[in-house]
Amino acid sequence: MDVTANLEEINHNIRQACEKSGRNPHEITIIGVTKYVTIERTKETLQAGVKNLGENRLEGFLEKYDYIQDQASWHFIGTLQSRKVKDVIDKVDAIHSLDRKSLAKEINKRADKPVDCFVQVNVSGEESKHGLAPEDVLPFIHGLEIYENVHVAGLMTMAPHTDDEESIRSVFKKLAALRDTVKDEQLGHAPCEYLSMGMSNDYQIAIEEGATHIRIGSKLVGS
Ligand SMILES: *Cc1c(COP(=O)(O)O)cnc(C)c1O
Repeated sequence: MDVTANLEEINHNIRQACEKSGRNPHEITIIGVTKYVTIERTKETLQAGVKNLGENRLEGFLEKYDYIQDQASWHFIGTLQSRKVKDVIDKVDAIHSLDRKSLAKEINKRADKPVDCFVQVNVSGEESKHGLAPEDVLPFIHGLEIYENVHVAGLMTMAPHTDDEESIRSVFKKLAALRDTVKDEQLGHAPCEYLSMGMSNDYQIAIEEGATHIRIGSKLVGS
């Protein structure tokens, strides 16, 4: 399927999920995850109107960035080693995988202006998943105040791989509640308005539970 047709279907599903939950589709940003596909396909994605792109590995990101440059807004969605921060920091619009203080420190050091960061949370507690335990998130975010170039835009999570819709939904609900807790603190460095959650298999549920940024790879660009 071409990206345009896939995008139409996704937009249709977004509208449906929004209707169901009383939300406005304009609140939802689609991040097209291009990690599985070629540069040609990435260009096609851009052409279809997806202006936010996501990559999870440094090499893949740099390869795509070389061609696309700032025709897209770039989201770094994968684990980021501190020593690689300098290679991405002036090219990305947001980092969705802030999960430790040493990374925040490096972002702060290498950036010359505040960078939108999503704090990654391991809501489901699976050992294979990156991210902070939910109870550590608020103290972690308080501790970021000293880093003037780290701007906590929101929280990010990945739902467990399962067909059990209720367990997926409960992960998204917990992240939304945690976001509300952080937002209520009204911290200058951490407005924490956004929720980066939902992928190809669960984005409708994520939207119903408040997602503002959905990260879609296979269902949009193929795999
Ligand atoms: C690969 C990836 C996605 C997209 O996955 P799909 O299931 O193909 O939509 C989203 N978020 C992260 C962090 C990823 O690594």
